[in-house]
Amino acid sequence: MMAAPFVHMDSVAKRWNGQLGVEDISLSIPRGSFVALLGPSGCGKSTTLRLLSGLELPDEGTITIDGRNVTTAAPSERNLSMVFQSYALFPHLSVAENVVFGLKVRKVAASDRREKLTRALEITGLLGYENRRPGELSGGQRQRVALARAIVANQPLCLMDEPLSNLDAKLRASVRKDIKKLQVDLGITVIYVTHDQTEAMSMADMVVLMKDGHIQQTGTPEELYYRPANTFVAEFVGAPP
Ligand code: ADP
Ligand code: MG
Repeated sequence: MMAAPFVHMDSVAKRWNGQLGVEDISLSIPRGSFVALLGPSGCGKSTTLRLLSGLELPDEGTITIDGRNVTTAAPSERNLSMVFQSYALFPHLSVAENVVFGLKVRKVAASDRREKLTRALEITGLLGYENRRPGELSGGQRQRVALARAIVANQPLCLMDEPLSNLDAKLRASVRKDIKKLQVDLGITVIYVTHDQTEAMSMADMVVLMKDGHIQQTGTPEELYYRPANTFVAEFVGAPP
């Protein structure tokens, strides 16, 4: 018997008063993979991610994570963490307080919090920055705080929406490496939204290329490069490096 996919979307559609968000979205994502949702602005990447997170409800279709229906699960039962372009940090709290905030809410013991904090700061290269406020950090460091927060959450799935788009090119390369650690070192399944084909093709095991609310092709970077499903795919991904 085939193992059930970890994340499954079946014929999902979302509209607002007739305005199309996404339509006919079907995806099977194996545990431990790094999936990029790629496509031009307005193609439905963030809508797909918000549907996966349970922040939006689909008009049609079903979404399951680890066999559990996302639309009926309580937020605390969805077993996922999120990282946004805007970092979403509390400006008045220190780095350490930002990272363990969710653990405190969940009443995780102080000694356990400290241990998890140290490990997450180690992975993201933020040891020594515990007492700074977000306003005293660079954009790259702020995004690392958001990554550290996702790491301590210890969830099997992490959803990221354009996490590098506020960073300059040089920083992007180094934060990219930290993002890959979530998958490679920690075994977290990552679903990563980007409009940047270089980012998607270099980071992901599986790329989902979208246009106008529809999936154009799902495959490995090699499949998209060498066997594009249509001219849009061929033009969007361009020539292999
Ligand atoms: P992307 O993230 O790929 O840039 P989005 O998923 O944000 O695209 O948007 C896809 C489409 O859905 C766009 O046409 C957008 O205008 C529309 N859309 C997204 N959110 C809403 C909303 N809350 N109300 C109405 N339309 C929306
Ligand atoms: Mg978006």
